[in-house]
Amino acid sequence: MMVVVLGSGQLAQMTYLAGVPLGIQVVAVDPVNNTVVHPVEKNILSLSVSDAFNQAAAITAEFEHLPAALLTQAHATGKLHPSAEAIQTGGDRLKEKHLLDVLGINNCAYVPIFTVDELDSAFASIGPELIIKTSKDGYDGYGQFRVNDAESLASVKTELAQHDFKRNPLIAEQKSKFDREVSLVGARNGQGEIVCYPLAENLHFQGQLRVSLAPAPRVSDSVQQQAEIAFKALAEKLDYRGILAIEFFQVGDTLLVNEIAPRVHNSGHWTQQGTDFSQFENHLRAVVDLPLGRSHTSSVTTMINLIGCEKTIALQVADLGGHLHWYGKDVRAKRKVGHVNFTANSVEDSIQQLKAVEALGHANMFPLIDKVIADLSA
Ligand code: ATP
Ligand code: MG
Repeated sequence: MMVVVLGSGQLAQMTYLAGVPLGIQVVAVDPVNNTVVHPVEKNILSLSVSDAFNQAAAITAEFEHLPAALLTQAHATGKLHPSAEAIQTGGDRLKEKHLLDVLGINNCAYVPIFTVDELDSAFASIGPELIIKTSKDGYDGYGQFRVNDAESLASVKTELAQHDFKRNPLIAEQKSKFDREVSLVGARNGQGEIVCYPLAENLHFQGQLRVSLAPAPRVSDSVQQQAEIAFKALAEKLDYRGILAIEFFQVGDTLLVNEIAPRVHNSGHWTQQGTDFSQFENHLRAVVDLPLGRSHTSSVTTMINLIGCEKTIALQVADLGGHLHWYGKDVRAKRKVGHVNFTANSVEDSIQQLKAVEALGHANMFPLIDKVIADLSA
């Protein structure tokens, strides 16, 4: 059985690896060259995109900013899961916000922005603190501008003077004074069966995810339930098949949706070691319509992203008892090149693992570790 992943990065690679024990052969489409490649070796396979689509049991995607023609071609086969509509919704903040509003799911107040001057009225109505985001193509905090006061508003307006609002409108979002960020990863298959993982707590540095802790500490039943209710509403409305990730801001005991991702997600990588069935396996199960695996968790998992990190340092971290997932990419500043999952039997053991990472002394490579230790110790 073959599954085609649109996109040929690390998410396709890890989906491939999850497919091996299931006897599912995963191939990837490089959307830049429109070639079919091996998801690990990246060599071009002697298979055209249309032949791969013909042979596939299912087609899925590892990211939402895909060329329209490729998405249309995949959609036409009737095998694309999640659907083109779900992928496009996740790739367009205006569509996403509209869907959240239609479903009555809490999210940050926002104003759609189609001209630079509309920023003034947004500032007056929901300011002064705003996060301005492009509706399309943003990731890892790219495509974002911060406004705090009239002065920063003026400089953001100057910066955006040449912006192509027609191609890529913006949203002005009210800044949330959240207590923390958490995310829910869950799967839904063609039978409507749903499996959600426990919430993970996510720590960001300069717009990029650095550490996920799962299960997130101090999650009340009501908070987990709010997240699962939002998941069910979104997944059912989109007739969703596959893994769907939802990022939330937690304010007191209330969750606000930040954004959704119609795919396997970085904040779900902890499931590779922290659960019986990883997000990658459950994604494959969902798209080929197998029963979903349970999301049982018996350990505490810390996922540390390796960003711009040389492999020698990655190995030092993994040698402390973590599982290394190296993506095989060239190392560049700000580039995610791998992650390490540490599992522990108790929060105390997690703290000891993090202290050992801290003691390696690569503080610039691993910001926030002290914050995570403090968080776990609270
Ligand atoms: P990614 O794709 O890596 O998840 P992104 O570029 O799509 O990120 P967001 O998730 O919207 O963008 O924002 C990145 C981070 O910026 C958030 O995780 C959060 O830390 C901060 N942020 C975004 N929107 C807001 C907001 N309205 N209030 C406060 N902080 C925010
Ligand atoms: Mg995000």
